[in-house]
Amino acid sequence: MSDRYGDFVQSSIGKKVAKNLGLPLPVTLDRFESGEPLVRGSVLVGRANGDDKSVSESVARILSDVHADVYVNSSDDIKDALADAGVEAKANTGGDDKFKVLLFDASNISNADQLKEVYEFFHTVARRVEKSGRVIIIGRPPENISDIDTALAQRALEGFVKSVGKEFKRGITAQLIYVEDGAEQNLDSTLRFFTSARSAYVSGQVVRVSKGSNVDVDWTQPLGGKTMLVTGASRGIGEAIARVLAREGAHVICLDVPQQQADLQKVASEISGSVLTVDITSDDAGKQIAEAAQKRGGLDSIIHNAGVTRDKTLANMDEKKWDMVIDINLGSIARLNRYLLDNDVLKDNARIVCVSSISGIAGNLGQTNYATSKAGVIGLVNATAKQLEGNAKGMTINAVAPGFIETQMTEAIPFAIREAGRRMNSMSQGGLPVDVAETIAWFASPASGGLNGNIVRVCGQSLLGA
Ligand code: NAD
Repeated sequence: MSDRYGDFVQSSIGKKVAKNLGLPLPVTLDRFESGEPLVRGSVLVGRANGDDKSVSESVARILSDVHADVYVNSSDDIKDALADAGVEAKANTGGDDKFKVLLFDASNISNADQLKEVYEFFHTVARRVEKSGRVIIIGRPPENISDIDTALAQRALEGFVKSVGKEFKRGITAQLIYVEDGAEQNLDSTLRFFTSARSAYVSGQVVRVSKGSNVDVDWTQPLGGKTMLVTGASRGIGEAIARVLAREGAHVICLDVPQQQADLQKVASEISGSVLTVDITSDDAGKQIAEAAQKRGGLDSIIHNAGVTRDKTLANMDEKKWDMVIDINLGSIARLNRYLLDNDVLKDNARIVCVSSISGIAGNLGQTNYATSKAGVIGLVNATAKQLEGNAKGMTINAVAPGFIETQMTEAIPFAIREAGRRMNSMSQGGLPVDVAETIAWFASPASGGLNGNIVRVCGQSLLGA
């Protein structure tokens, strides 16, 4: 779908006009390109003073693995951890060097005064972040901390990160990763996602990394040998999910309703996947999915993407519109999960990923049915995550909550509302289906065993429900 205003401001005259009128200035976001390095520029790393070096050690190892070009501030003792991991960090001399990533280990921050170290690290380099840059802070989950001073300081990081996301503009994202004590080894997939172009339209998010069984992966094909099923795969976001999972090495079973067979067949054949035409609300949907999965030895992941809108204000909404949206978007997911779990269709370390929506977080005029269903998806993920916590099979469940994504679904929105939805976020533009797909691929990775019960918005830090 075309964003004419977004295209116009890429021209020099468009840029001038927008600047003079104080209009939003969306930049072209960096996105995954094969052959490009994971991090397309330098990384400035820092850490707050304190005895616990476990986060820094994991960060250093990961930066070494991805061959990042690393800088440190001269006073910073993260240098030792980097040196131990074989990274020869350069000194940030305060000159004109620009950074693609600013990464700060705040896990040692234990009171309000110590938050000053966050200010000091970021203040001096706030103007030196490149376009589509990344700001990442790693802390400890406040809900696990009994000391009040430490808990408040760790919780405070969220306000800092969300404000940076709104301030820095130019496609720069900001995230907070809370890593559980003892789960530092599980940071790999999350740091790789957030430092790279794959997280283009994800900003202002708080992610929790916990203990959980991780599986070693070949990072060039992390989903190699895996069988994954995507519902609603014939077009839009589902098609993008199928393509990204296949790009990462998975065999994808592409599912959609029989009416979409031709489009579905086209997507599946282009990615060497297989086709399953089923209405997910039908009584035998679970059985049909199980049969298709058994042919390939079971499922490593199911992506519950299929969804519909039938918008009407509550007073004008007939029963049919209510029932249909709730059943497709929510009821069927609950039934399918139950069937797949009860019948051992999901393999060890299986990843269940659901697609919610910011409508389910913020609510939306004319969408009581849709917002109810999408909020229900969050409830389903939270409850199932608790059930799966520490399960012997190492399964996880997470969800993405897309904001304004350029698809047929958003094309149907009236112009003025559509334009507002597109601009009311820190990126001043709509996201692309591939942005949702990349986020799902991160959750679906065997290396993401430490992610369970996360709801990550793919919304460019939309103002709605923030
Ligand atoms: P889309 O309408 O382009 O695609 C949805 C797909 O689901 C279609 O291929 C459709 O045939 C399939 N589907 C519908 N009912 C089905 C059923 N009963 N059984 C099997 N397949 C069925 O929509 P999209 O924009 O690609 O949205 C994909 C998901 O993302 C949906 O869950 C949607 O709610 C969610 N979402 C989209 C946006 C956005 O901006 N586009 C924002 C938030 C959330």
